[in-house]
Amino acid sequence: MDVRVISKADVERLLPMGECVDLMAEALATLARGDAVLPLRQMVWQPDQRGMIGVMPGYLGSPPRFGLKIVSIFPGNAGTGYDSHQGAVLMFDPQVGSPVAVIDASAITAIRTAAVSGVATRTLARPDAGDLAILGAGVQAATHLEAMATVRTLRRVRVWSRDRSRAQRFAARAAEHGTKVEAVADARAAVEGADLICTTTSAKEPILEGAWIAPGAHINAVGACFAQARELDTTAVVRSRLYVDRRESALAESGDVLIPISEGAFEADHIVGELGDLLLRRVPGRTAAREITLFKSLGIAIEDLAAAHHVMQRAATQGVGTVAPLGEFLPEHA
Ligand code: NDP
Repeated sequence: MDVRVISKADVERLLPMGECVDLMAEALATLARGDAVLPLRQMVWQPDQRGMIGVMPGYLGSPPRFGLKIVSIFPGNAGTGYDSHQGAVLMFDPQVGSPVAVIDASAITAIRTAAVSGVATRTLARPDAGDLAILGAGVQAATHLEAMATVRTLRRVRVWSRDRSRAQRFAARAAEHGTKVEAVADARAAVEGADLICTTTSAKEPILEGAWIAPGAHINAVGACFAQARELDTTAVVRSRLYVDRRESALAESGDVLIPISEGAFEADHIVGELGDLLLRRVPGRTAAREITLFKSLGIAIEDLAAAHHVMQRAATQGVGTVAPLGEFLPEHA
């Protein structure tokens, strides 16, 4: 049997942000309709907590997409040249179960995560929102800049990172692509007056305080994917109308949700709904211009499957990737 191996560069070429935003909307709506199987992910940490491997299997229907992402997360890789998220999406034939593609997970993760924030922003942010603050200056910061520019007209962009030189390098790279980005010295200065905020750091303690957030802002909270970590303080979440990618995941894996619940700040019903329910109009979206909306993203396997399937199909049509034999068809048993 032939397996197509697709590199990071090919994924980046075959998965443009605008297309991925629409793909993610379709995948999240399919999940909300119940045409998906999505267990919670499994994580294995190294004993010294340096890094972990996460296994994210799933099934997404119509058309059937079946497979899993295996991704290592090494937060200390930031700025070393190694991506902090590395791995592969392994796709299987949904009829006979043969592996059909191995696709670079760094690029899939970078693009699909920002595209999901694009869906949330397109649906929840005010139509005139365009003053963007990005906290963090890594891989997700870069794809979030692209996603936000895809769904809104940006008037101003500020970026903050713990290491200011990284924020400055981020701004310089953006300038090379024709986007003016201001590297600012502290998170508060980035956020004040902004109506779009993306938190994209590996921080475990809050880097965004509720007191700084302007009325009417929309926030995409993307880092802090573990129950013990959060990027937002309790006030920020209390002040916001909260949406998630998956309720079950948020209530098992998100410190941004679980820590305020453990403090008694709110209960699980503070979550207004999942993005898919919002897209199907089963739950209301923004109800007032001065309301703060918050999308807490954890990342779910069906997003990877939808993105990987799209890349796999494009690669097959265009003859992209390396085809290698794996496994064997046994005609004598047919
Ligand atoms: P990178 O390693 O590329 O960038 C990490 C960023 O976080 C850097 O800007 C770094 O700043 C900053 N940072 C690290 N530690 C801290 C800290 N203690 N306080 C403040 N800032 C900090 O990672 P990615 O961009 O790939 O991922 C960013 C986050 O998003 C991670 O937490 C990751 O797990 C999460 N993620 C979430 C996904 C989802 O679906 N929701 C999918 C993929 C990633 P500096 O360099 O200045 O120190």
